[in-house]
Amino acid sequence: MPVAIVSGANRGLGLEMVQQLLQRGWRVIAACRDTGQGLRLTGLAGAHPGHLHVMPLDVTSERSIAAFVGEAGLVADRLDLLVNNAGLLVGGERFGAVEAKNLAASFAVNASGPLLLTQACAALLANAAAARVANISSVMGSIARAEVFRSPSYAMSKAALNMATRLLAAELAPRGIRVASFHPGWVQTDMGGPNATLDVEGAVSALLERILRLDAEGSGRFFGSEDEELPW
Ligand code: NDP
Repeated sequence: MPVAIVSGANRGLGLEMVQQLLQRGWRVIAACRDTGQGLRLTGLAGAHPGHLHVMPLDVTSERSIAAFVGEAGLVADRLDLLVNNAGLLVGGERFGAVEAKNLAASFAVNASGPLLLTQACAALLANAAAARVANISSVMGSIARAEVFRSPSYAMSKAALNMATRLLAAELAPRGIRVASFHPGWVQTDMGGPNATLDVEGAVSALLERILRLDAEGSGRFFGSEDEELPW
């Protein structure tokens, strides 16, 4: 049975990803900052005994990452999929009032966290035949597509995540691990808001299809919600 880790699994895209992976017969390690907040996850764990493990993880803390990966290694000896899904969007940023603390927090969650978590999971990933790392990025992190001054902390940190994708793809290729950035589309979550064009179930279903199709040739690339390749 294939094994996946999903970060930010207590709500939004992460929670739906956990549900759909379980439906597909995967074993899932669901990582969330506060396991007490993951009530729906707790319910799911009851419905999928032995298949869902809910573990605490704050992707901005090296200590939390080390403890999490140690615990994950106790329940699984290999990892087929790591979904770096946890993300932070600071709303309402305007030029003239951008704050260092928002830039730092966004880089910590959106860029450093995925790199550090992937680094810590590398040995488990290498134990799988053809492991995949999906970095959930955003078209807002595309430098080529940036035309207005909007959400700089988010946009800059997702651009940095895309660089992490390239670096990790190069480093992990010899161990057979594929790494890519994926834009999920504009999705109705707390982050995407109610006016987003895609519902969570459909968006995650399509996203998961793309992730599970990722081959060696697609490693190091950035894919959009229509399976198109996005410009960096
Ligand atoms: P939500 O805001 O609904 O959920 C964000 C998740 O990230 C929560 O589970 C949150 O946990 C978690 N998280 C935040 N900070 C940390 C941290 N330090 N450590 C661990 N977990 C953390 O977002 P979405 O579900 O919409 O987004 C998921 C991913 O998809 C993100 O990376 C986002 O950037 C990306 N994306 C989303 C789009 C959309 O339209 N929704 C569009 C493009 C990209 P907690 O509950 O504890 O805060």
